Amino acid sequence: MIVDRFGRPLRNLRLSVTDRCNLRCSYCMPEEEYAWLPRGDILTFEEITRLIDVFADLGVDKVRLTGGEPLLRRDLPRLVTMIAAEPRIRDLAITTNGLLLDQQAYALRNAGLHRVTVSLDTLRPDRFLALTRRDSFRQVLEGIETVRGMDWPGLKLDTVVMRGVNDDELVDLLEFARESSAELRFIEYMDVGGATRWSMDKVVSCAEMLERLADRYGRVEPVVEDSSAPADRYRLPDGLVFGIISSTTAPFCRACDRSRLTADGQWLLCLYATTALDLRKPLREGATKDELASLIGSSWQGRRDRGAEERLLLKDRQPLLQIAELKARPHLEMHTRGG
Ligand code: SAM
Repeated sequence: MIVDRFGRPLRNLRLSVTDRCNLRCSYCMPEEEYAWLPRGDILTFEEITRLIDVFADLGVDKVRLTGGEPLLRRDLPRLVTMIAAEPRIRDLAITTNGLLLDQQAYALRNAGLHRVTVSLDTLRPDRFLALTRRDSFRQVLEGIETVRGMDWPGLKLDTVVMRGVNDDELVDLLEFARESSAELRFIEYMDVGGATRWSMDKVVSCAEMLERLADRYGRVEPVVEDSSAPADRYRLPDGLVFGIISSTTAPFCRACDRSRLTADGQWLLCLYATTALDLRKPLREGATKDELASLIGSSWQGRRDRGAEERLLLKDRQPLLQIAELKARPHLEMHTRGG
């Protein structure tokens, strides 16, 4: 197992399989037009699995497929089959907006996908339309219902909480998760690439969420566990467990074992990183497995990133990036690096 400068292991790989998305969420893709990655740059499934083999050698045992919207990648179940065949990957999950889940859930499960997380920010169709600029709420619910109907364990729902947008739905979303046999995770609104309309006053902190939930349900207890997962988990008095990802107000860089590979093979060591290691070039120039391992291993060993904690130290915190910079460097976009 290799570790970085702060002793953090390389265990968790978020694999973006496409930068394309079929929603335009205001906190992630607020623009009308985007510059997409050139098709020829997108890694093939064979290239991805070659890299996963190297990452697994170095200690990665968890892979999460993301995007853009991962279900837009043609033939995704074939990639899942290829990754699931690697026994060192103990946990293979996906984060999806759910639009195409109803159509693909069976094929993905049969291919060996372990777990599904669906992003769901609101239960109100009119809000969904305003927030995502697409009239697709019904499909998302159908996708969630399909997974539930399959008795597929491990279903999670992720909600980005924004003041004045959906912060009056905390209880409704929790009750919906309960009915859906899913675990809900509230995510603090983050000042990442793409979130050009972010401001601190729109962030509902973990502390505030807990306070509001305690007002409604009574005492909320932390679930004590030793984990590098980004969410802190809590239990309501009636036993319902949920999570909060507090990357904005209480970051967890200390335990971060995550890195991100973009669909075109750029490897990022931190969600806030502004530079990446190009793995596509050596891969396509015929680097051996040992050469790739040495490149990846030495980068990780030099890793000092603690992007979210550094953001926290800023006095006048503004969006990380402005539109012009994102247009010039699409790899800085959240939908390119994979959330
Ligand atoms: N399209 C898929 C989806 O919607 O889940 C996967 C990609 S999306 C970029 C991954 C996650 O990033 C989603 O849960 C999304 O809500 C989250 N995300 C994007 N922008 C965010 C922001 N500004 N703050 C917090 N979470 C954000």
